[in-house]
Amino acid sequence: MLDAGFFAAWVEEAARSVLAGKDRLTRLDTAIGDGDHGTNLDRGLTAAVQALADHRPATPGALLVLVGGTLIRRVGGASGPLYGTAFREAGRALGEEPGVSPGALAGALEAAVDGVRRLGSAAEGDKTMVDALAPAVRALAQAVREGRDVREALDTAAAAARGGAEATVPMQARKGRASYLGPRSIGHEDPGAASAALLVEALRTVAARW
Ligand code: ADP
Ligand code: MG
Repeated sequence: MLDAGFFAAWVEEAARSVLAGKDRLTRLDTAIGDGDHGTNLDRGLTAAVQALADHRPATPGALLVLVGGTLIRRVGGASGPLYGTAFREAGRALGEEPGVSPGALAGALEAAVDGVRRLGSAAEGDKTMVDALAPAVRALAQAVREGRDVREALDTAAAAARGGAEATVPMQARKGRASYLGPRSIGHEDPGAASAALLVEALRTVAARW
């Protein structure tokens, strides 16, 4: 069972990883956006780590809802409300249970991606964060159904997220700022898909040492 400490460790690892990848995310968003994605997400995750240091909710659900609200307030841009919604929906799906099973984790992340899809009305293939998140969550759910343990399941989810982000390179953007570029958006990895892969990889990293 994954407890609130696990999810707090995830947020910390995600913040570290986004800080380390900030320049790359900025480069990707400079190519097909306005160059603020790395800074936006770093600011939001730093604020989320601080919020958890000030007051760590006792349950995983409440913790993720707090992180989501912080991201909505602090990230800005298109990705702030989208990531904020993702964390909030995951938190809501977990309810008040103190421990999260692999199946409940998969269900919560499915709720997160559904929230992003609903808010952004983006489908797979539109060259957004959904292209990394959706395959990751599918891989996770399938691995859990096959009875793999949470570490193995998150390994496959992280690989699927990275693969999904790389698959955005040849796509033409149909949502968000990059869509204004039309065919000129082709040939670059989507910054939001790249950051989504970092978040899933952070989850895998934390599970591996849990
Ligand atoms: P902005 O585009 O407002 O500057 P960011 O740079 O922080 O915001 O985030 C850009 C990322 O947000 C994109 O790379 C894409 O992955 C994601 N994004 C933008 N619009 C949508 C949408 N409608 N649905 C899903 N994801 C989106
Ligand atoms: Mg941007």
